[in-house]
Amino acid sequence: MQRRTKIVATIGPASESESTLADMMAAGMDVARIGLAHGTLDEAIERYQRIRRVSAEVGRPVGILVDLPGPKVRAASFGETSVKFHSDSTVEMLVGSQSSTDSVIEVDYEGLLEDVLVGDTLDVGDGRVVLDVVDKGGDRLKVRVVHGGVLSGCPGVHIPADRLRISTPTPADFVALDAFTDLGVDMVAISFVRSAHDIRRVGTEPHPRGPLLCAKIETRAAVQNLAGIIDTAGSVMVARGDLGSECSIEELPHLQKQIIQQCIARGRPVITATQMLESMVSRPSPTRAEASDVANAVFDGSSALMLSGETAVGVDPANVVRTMDRIARRADEEFDYEGWAERLAELRMTDSSHDDTAITDAMTMAAWRAAGELGISTILAISGTGFTVRSMARFRPQARIVGMSHNERAAAQLTLSWGTTPVLVKDRGSNDEMVRQAVAVACERDYVRSGEIVAVLAGADNRSRSANVLRLERVP
Ligand code: PEP
Repeated sequence: MQRRTKIVATIGPASESESTLADMMAAGMDVARIGLAHGTLDEAIERYQRIRRVSAEVGRPVGILVDLPGPKVRAASFGETSVKFHSDSTVEMLVGSQSSTDSVIEVDYEGLLEDVLVGDTLDVGDGRVVLDVVDKGGDRLKVRVVHGGVLSGCPGVHIPADRLRISTPTPADFVALDAFTDLGVDMVAISFVRSAHDIRRVGTEPHPRGPLLCAKIETRAAVQNLAGIIDTAGSVMVARGDLGSECSIEELPHLQKQIIQQCIARGRPVITATQMLESMVSRPSPTRAEASDVANAVFDGSSALMLSGETAVGVDPANVVRTMDRIARRADEEFDYEGWAERLAELRMTDSSHDDTAITDAMTMAAWRAAGELGISTILAISGTGFTVRSMARFRPQARIVGMSHNERAAAQLTLSWGTTPVLVKDRGSNDEMVRQAVAVACERDYVRSGEIVAVLAGADNRSRSANVLRLERVP
């Protein structure tokens, strides 16, 4: 069975060579993520161009997601070796970017002394070390180690988002955004979003002319304003690292499920991220709990699963992608396809205030029913913007979705969509011609065989946002 749940892999020092990128693509990477929290903009652009080059060489369409760090606070480097922090010890924290030790942690946030208050809790390295602020004086904070642990590199320092004065996107984010928009990036993730207004401030053209925007849900405010954020953004990431620091840890699995459900109902791809196969940063196989986490994220309905440090700095990035591919593929086989579609009908059907949405709801539902009743194994969804394809994917049908678009960027953005094989096609002609071409392309690529029935779903014209053509065709 073709894997339905997509894999996003972060590219970093361990994975940026052409040969490793090619191996990761062969292993199943669907989307490459470039995080801008480390390194220079020029280095990130070089990575971007290399990914494009390798993807063209190996002939596998790989989307690129650039992740803007927003007001992400980091500790200055702990150097080459890991540093251990003991519970109950006391450490100082000050503004700086030179180096950190086991007694003084420098952080790159100018507002540290003003914004952080005595009594606040700070998480370092996605919860590896937890600190309580016990005193403030002169140029530094005094913090007590509540939970000790080991830190290395330049770990993130989580300051409660409602304490941060700077909003997202930051001025540095806008510089990077301009550079990558000019290059034609497929997707851009926005960190520390608090409301739909933060997404609107990005100001890029609507996708697919501009990048598909991905709102990272990692603040309490974002959870409170979730519906508006999902409606405004093109996609969403459950950024469990920072979200796990913002909310109590026992809430995290439930928030993950709620966010995913709301995204599916609204036809937005949703990525589950962070520490999915964390132990594989240094080991060849995952823990049992990690394998279960990946499978459960599939059962939750995630469109995509994300690898961070595992592929950016881990010992064997291609092995991690292969492992995630195997676990996700197996979980896809057990996925409750029927249950999901039934639940979708309750969750969504339908927003009748918008004609286009209501028509698309009815037509995608009809395509899903026809696929089930006739045992159709492939749905060809044709779309200029990707809207029809994403609307079809909401049903999580057992049939494979082939997402066809004449728009190169729309096709690249579909790399993130659940169950979808993106295909770039020539511009559409009449409705008959469009359907004929779709079936011919699917035949050429061996997605369908002569004699089987396929469903073809499309919008009758480029201007409408509704999917209003459904044809059930026998492949000649
Ligand atoms: C997260 O916090 O889970 C996340 C994905 O964001 P980042 O990697 O930028 O910390």
